[in-house]
Amino acid sequence: MENEKSPADAVKKTNLTPKAIISQKYGNKACYKVEEVQESSEKGCPGLAIPQKGPCRYRCILQLPEITIESGIFKRKKDAEKSAAEMAIEKLGIQISTDSRTPQEASDLLVERLTYLFSNEFLSSDPPHPLSGHLRAVLEREGDLCGLVPLSVMAVYDSRLNNLCKCINPKVESNPFLVIPLIMGAASRLPELVATSEGQLSIWRKNLYPPEVIESLVDQQSGAPQSTSVEAIHIPCSQEKAIELVILDISSTGYYLDVIAKKLDLTDAAKVLISRAIGKASSETRLYFAAHQSYLIEPSSDHTNAKEALHSEVSLNARASYLSSQDIYGDAILASIGFTWRSKDLFYEDVSVQSYYRMLISKIPSGIYKLSREAVLTAEFPLAFTTRTNWRGSLPRDVLFTFCRQHRLSEPVFSTISTPLKAVSESPGSSKKLKVTDSSKEDTERASGGAISTDARESVESAVSYQCEIKIFSRSQDLIIECSPKDSFKKQNDSIQNTSFKIISWLNMYFKDLNLPSEKLNSTANVLDVQFSHENFLKEFVLSRSIHTVHHAETEGVKFLEPNTMSMLNTMPEQGVQSLNIEGPDSGVFPSNGSLLCISYSVFLVTEGEHMKENLESNPEFEFEIGVGAVIPHLEAAVTLMSIGQSACFKMELPPKEFILAAAVNSARTLSLLSSKSCCLEYSIRLLQVTEPLEDRMEQALFSPPLSKQRVEYAVQHIKESGATTLVDFGCGSGSLLDSLLNYPTALEKIVGVDISQKSLGRAAKILHSKLSNNIGINSAILYDGSITDFDSRLCGFDIGTCLEVIEHMEEEQACLFGDVVLSYFCPKVLIVSTPNYEYNVILQKSSPPSQEEDPDEKTQSQSCKFRNHDHKFEWTREQFNHWATELAVKHNYSVEFSGVGGSADLEPGFASQIAVFRRICPPQGEDLSKNADTEHHYQVIWEWSSSTSSS
Ligand code: SAH
Ligand code: MG
Repeated sequence: MENEKSPADAVKKTNLTPKAIISQKYGNKACYKVEEVQESSEKGCPGLAIPQKGPCRYRCILQLPEITIESGIFKRKKDAEKSAAEMAIEKLGIQISTDSRTPQEASDLLVERLTYLFSNEFLSSDPPHPLSGHLRAVLEREGDLCGLVPLSVMAVYDSRLNNLCKCINPKVESNPFLVIPLIMGAASRLPELVATSEGQLSIWRKNLYPPEVIESLVDQQSGAPQSTSVEAIHIPCSQEKAIELVILDISSTGYYLDVIAKKLDLTDAAKVLISRAIGKASSETRLYFAAHQSYLIEPSSDHTNAKEALHSEVSLNARASYLSSQDIYGDAILASIGFTWRSKDLFYEDVSVQSYYRMLISKIPSGIYKLSREAVLTAEFPLAFTTRTNWRGSLPRDVLFTFCRQHRLSEPVFSTISTPLKAVSESPGSSKKLKVTDSSKEDTERASGGAISTDARESVESAVSYQCEIKIFSRSQDLIIECSPKDSFKKQNDSIQNTSFKIISWLNMYFKDLNLPSEKLNSTANVLDVQFSHENFLKEFVLSRSIHTVHHAETEGVKFLEPNTMSMLNTMPEQGVQSLNIEGPDSGVFPSNGSLLCISYSVFLVTEGEHMKENLESNPEFEFEIGVGAVIPHLEAAVTLMSIGQSACFKMELPPKEFILAAAVNSARTLSLLSSKSCCLEYSIRLLQVTEPLEDRMEQALFSPPLSKQRVEYAVQHIKESGATTLVDFGCGSGSLLDSLLNYPTALEKIVGVDISQKSLGRAAKILHSKLSNNIGINSAILYDGSITDFDSRLCGFDIGTCLEVIEHMEEEQACLFGDVVLSYFCPKVLIVSTPNYEYNVILQKSSPPSQEEDPDEKTQSQSCKFRNHDHKFEWTREQFNHWATELAVKHNYSVEFSGVGGSADLEPGFASQIAVFRRICPPQGEDLSKNADTEHHYQVIWEWSSSTSSS
């Protein structure tokens, strides 16, 4: 047990709630369970035959690694939790009070504490104090060493003693071993009770414990002495030397620290120093290393001299220091062993090569996330925070807390500001000026978070929006990172997650390429609203550079996505994937961005020639949202080409060794495979299930036939009636409209689709290919890869153009540009444009069906998305849409009519999908059309079909 709060924390102490203190110390190892306690009601109606329920009250059970605490009963859940946290803080001696003890008072209390620690009653204290375990164990030591307690043990295992020492000398915070001289000082004030030896670094009780006390201990000892082996990791000081597994032979008699000392080539336990607990909060995993006098030198003004003196003797162990965030010199042993509050018996656990690498990657935010998903080789920290519903693994805020704890930084400081929505001048997604509304009006509309009608506005009751700022300080309270984005959210929690997300994304980028030029670091910081102090940042993370494997290869592809730019991922190169092989019948159900997928997978390490295979990671049911980079890019790319029920297999280059070894259970075998020349990873996956994005779920639940089908049918009807022979579908996606068209007899001869998503175009091609051979009317079909805001002369003069649910996926100014390009250059006779009606969202969201796995809380969370789909850049009200379309029509000499599907024009709030049908009033001058006819080809043909060539 040790206290990790710096004196500087005392300044902030008043801000820390008991729960925050527990969270800082234990992170997610602290588990609160709130129980309802039913009390019979006094105010109930007497004589009523129905049992009367009293007001519900709550009790909180707080489970910590070393202790379980039960609170009293409270009216509010919060109070029960707070009380449990307070009790835990008191019981475990975690220092919180802004104690204004003078160093002198603390010295006196230290003497008092020492007296207690060497008392008879302490030896058999119950629950067992971790230090009492050592006091008992040293009595089993042989010969001269019997009863000698290493001072390092005193320094580490009693938090009270530690806190008092910090009070006497604040430098203990940065060098915990300064506790040792303080204990020796206190011991010299107790000449009757204890003695110390500086040369020995030991302390012992002068008088033997009375026989009864010793006998009572023996009684508790279980069975005959037996020998036990524990795995530990030897971390050589020199980084050239590999870490190695060592076996500690500990028997139930004797002292385990002596065994560790031998492994370090030291004579006995007193020569060993013990680090802080590392890895998981309050674990017993610590580093053990040789004691040098230099550790006991105060880091004062001539701090550097002291370090230099030390340096001449033995050098810094970078790996050990990095793991523990404290300076460690010479060879070290990493072991998970010690006495705990839980039992009088010694606790021990193997520390394998795998656990070492897991500790190492848990220093990196993406590593923390991967571990939380139990998918080190498969999961990635997502590139966007969409909804809590679709998020899997640790949430950004929790990853940030863990990161700070892992690096021994202060707990991140959050401040959220809430603003009534009216006062918010900008909200995400609508910050761009809308060209078509006049500015006075626009301001009021923006103020309500994207313009909603009066009646709809009422349902956004007393709306406030939240912004969140986070600051990260070092232990010594130097500001390292600050992030204060402008983004505002309807839910406070969303704002917290969003800001945490930005900081983690930035940190991830740093850890992904530790040699990143500082301009790049700065520019990404800008994009993510992160500010950081170069100096303080490098001071904290300087060691990481020599520890983590740098992955140059991956930095090329690093992209940061704002929640609304997921479509960027569509263009993600499928780099590095070798021999993708998809098997099984095509079920026609494909994942799309925003869908939640469930796959089963296995990852193998394979050697090329020797046909050796080692399973590194498997999961029978692994869920992730697609389109946000929540898995390695190769897997994301593969899975978008698959339909439900299909399996696939692909190989890829090896990721950095630390990840492979963090995944591998059999590290000896894995290492031997890795040493062979050509090795790669082989992924074998199966797509089990696809849960559609919220927009689709809402539309399907509320409309029959589904809204998407109604839109397509609306367009088909118009196409049929118009007698058009040529059609272009702008933003055709996976070809849902083109596909449906082929089910009906039309006059169409030529159909064209354009989209910027190659993935979607690939699917459209597949579908069209299988259908076109049976269609007699159409003789030409082409799919282009291109942006519909760009001109391409091959799209000029078509009979009809369609653009269904596309414009809202572009920025507003791009949507305006598309309008201009299509009506002034492409000039179709008819153009049909559909887009969501923002005013209808109130109804959609009210009736949003909870999916199987959503709990009621999550459901409301998912509604924190303002728009129907996270890829939407805007959603217009009827008025905004009318304005856009009308201006556009007037400008380009078209007429326009408004209509829609889902709902009705006469009933508030109008159609669910609003549709504008533009008609060309007079044909454009022939000159215009052919002007650039054969020169301007900006689109790329992705797929082409013609009836004359298809007969083969
Ligand atoms: N019209 C289809 C797809 C709608 S989803 C349907 O109704 O099913 C929106 C589509 O717009 C996506 O496929 C996206 O790739 C495409 N898109 C977005 N911006 C685009 C642009 N600038 N040029 C072409 N396509 C675009
Ligand atoms: Mg859409």
